[in-house]
Amino acid sequence: MKTTNLGFPRIGNKRELKKAVEGYWKGSISEEQLKSTAQEIRKINWSLQDDNQIDLIPSNDFSLYDQVLDLAFTVGAIPERFKTLQQQGNLSDIDLYFAMARGYQQKGLDIKAMSMKKWFDTNYHYIVPEFTKNQDFSLFSSKVIDEFKEALSLGIKTKPVLIGPVTFLLLGKAKEDNFDCLELLDKLLPIYAKLLKELKKLGAENVQFDEPCLALDSTPSIRNKITAAYNYFANEVPSLKIFLANYFDCYGDNLATVLQLPIHTLHLDITRCGEQINDIFTADNFLSTLHFSIGIIDGRNIWKNDYQKSLTTLSKVIEKVGKERILIAPSCSLLHVPCDLNLETETSKINQKILPWLSFAKQKLGELSALKQLVLSDNFEKEEDYIINQKALQTRNQSTVVHQPKVKERVQKLTAKDAQRSHLFKTRKILQKEALNLPLYPTTTIGSFPQTKEVRQWRAAFKNGRLSAEEYQSKLEEETKRTISLQEEIGLDVLVHGEFERNDMVEYFGEQLEGFTFSSFGWVQSYGSRCVKPPIIFGDVSRSNPMTVAWTKYAQSCTDKYIKGMLTGPVTILQWSFVRDDQPRSETCTQIALAIRDEVQDLESAGIKIIQIDEPAIREGLPLRAVDWATYLQWAVNAFKVSSSGVKDETQIHTHMCYSEFNDIIKSIADLDADVITIECSRSQMDLLNAFASFNYPNDIGPGIYDIHSPRVPSKYEMVDLIDKAKRHIPAEQLWVNPDCGLKTRDWPETKKALEKMVEAAVTARKLF
Ligand code: GLN
Ligand code: ZN
Repeated sequence: MKTTNLGFPRIGNKRELKKAVEGYWKGSISEEQLKSTAQEIRKINWSLQDDNQIDLIPSNDFSLYDQVLDLAFTVGAIPERFKTLQQQGNLSDIDLYFAMARGYQQKGLDIKAMSMKKWFDTNYHYIVPEFTKNQDFSLFSSKVIDEFKEALSLGIKTKPVLIGPVTFLLLGKAKEDNFDCLELLDKLLPIYAKLLKELKKLGAENVQFDEPCLALDSTPSIRNKITAAYNYFANEVPSLKIFLANYFDCYGDNLATVLQLPIHTLHLDITRCGEQINDIFTADNFLSTLHFSIGIIDGRNIWKNDYQKSLTTLSKVIEKVGKERILIAPSCSLLHVPCDLNLETETSKINQKILPWLSFAKQKLGELSALKQLVLSDNFEKEEDYIINQKALQTRNQSTVVHQPKVKERVQKLTAKDAQRSHLFKTRKILQKEALNLPLYPTTTIGSFPQTKEVRQWRAAFKNGRLSAEEYQSKLEEETKRTISLQEEIGLDVLVHGEFERNDMVEYFGEQLEGFTFSSFGWVQSYGSRCVKPPIIFGDVSRSNPMTVAWTKYAQSCTDKYIKGMLTGPVTILQWSFVRDDQPRSETCTQIALAIRDEVQDLESAGIKIIQIDEPAIREGLPLRAVDWATYLQWAVNAFKVSSSGVKDETQIHTHMCYSEFNDIIKSIADLDADVITIECSRSQMDLLNAFASFNYPNDIGPGIYDIHSPRVPSKYEMVDLIDKAKRHIPAEQLWVNPDCGLKTRDWPETKKALEKMVEAAVTARKLF
């Protein structure tokens, strides 16, 4: 029996890679210095895995920016505009690589970056490869080979990791019509084969192919491509052991196909799909030579593994296939968890009580080797590792910081009525019209106003004690007041306070809720050099004090116009946190919903008549396979409704989502029953409103008419035109006028100009009506 790992975080314990990469971009360090930092991180990671006696250690899991971009670079999938750029701008390879990731605006050139997308159901973003019909591939970069050699020189023979060819093509974007990226497979395979042969020559024995596309709804043609690809590799490089990894869900319909492949090892994500074990070992075509990598340590969460549960599962597998054909592994790459729990010392802001229950990437390596020892032990229950592990779990199970009977009781007592406004939207609309008296095409914004350098400096100064609480408070009040006067001058109908007191839309609430804690160093890569520190939800969630009422009241005291209260919704708070694994996500989500519900009611009692509950993460929470959607949507929608339904009919509930591809979930969006939904739309020229139009979406909609993702100020007529286009899809009486998303990343001058034009556009549209 062996242990293996699928990938290790590459940002470095203290985000050394981020600092080096950003330093290189700014020109403060050289390419050599950047490369040496990268090499140092790889060395530390490999040695760490070696010290933990991991038998098969990955390489090529490192990346300066993103592993999908690395593969595009490796196989020479360089879009034409970047090839031209390299010649014109005389760029080095590394600058070309970063230009693909971030675009290039120098020396009078302006080349758009490749786009970015979320990696399956994670918060990691990859660079979307671009393919053309006549796409050629070539071995453009030797990164895979170089890193294999580098580890070899340290005495470690690694298992290089490559994204599999089918997943790679499926992740890509066809830059021409009428062609399917999968058609490129035949051209792509020889490049992989070249690499594999080279690796083989250098002594590689195992290669890991990641094909997470196997966790998605599949088609016969995708399965045929998988069969073709892995048969091709087996023919071209017969003695290389292929380790095929799918994660985040079951193999599902693809199982029969993968069991017939000429591969050495099949990886199973047990944390997401424990049933697979039964499916596989009862399947007719179960191969007697296939090895299995049992992904039993959760690579997506930060809790200690339950050794008792894992040993039970492992013994079931061993009974069927014997110890020799088993590897113990994390469920997926450890990229999605923070590096090292040991950095959270007594001075960490993390709740110290929960420390013994946690396990970050480094600790998970320890769990892998401990589990192996325990499997091999004659009497594992007597082993120290086991005893300590079970004790920690027991404490967690019984802890009073985790379990709040009152919260559980409240969830239990919820009825359908609690998730339902008193009257239908039709009636509410009339009441709200009377109460609020807003014009046709009411204008508003999404919530945040520019988070300038000053605002961030004040927060930093406040946090490290250089600014007193009173000084901080008064600076933010001034900023809020100024922003409100500005909105009045511009002539907006529904104002916001600007969100200057918030660092992040989830963290701000998590910091005030019971059941949440924050690590000091628990960074996880989000994209490129950007890292996030997700909140940790460890216990029953409740709200002990109002969270936004004081700021909203203050803002309302500055104006006679309506201030829109601004909250983050339960699904988004859940989605962007590490969540409990001892109860269903739906349960945690409902608890958060109740806390938000209390806040909504307090805002209403404080005289706030319009309240927005942002849910930008509802769509990304969708399970990978469509069969699981209905269950998710049911509880997610219910959570939103629990949070929003405790108010009077006259109180207007808004929600906001930063995208507008609602085709497949439009019914659920309508079920949210928000009085107003604001969405992104400007870049699609309102075409995305089709989903709402064909559904006869009944409530009000604010399709963003100004793209806040760029500093460009749109003209009034452009926006009048967009309102006009929107009107062709949605009746004018249902339309609001607003930007795409919050303005926190913008600067003041452009914000002011754009909002002025936006209001002028609404005024013109009203006259033209
Ligand atoms: N209210 C938030 C803001 O304006 C919404 C952010 C978001 O949609 N991601 O910043
Ligand atoms: Zn948004």
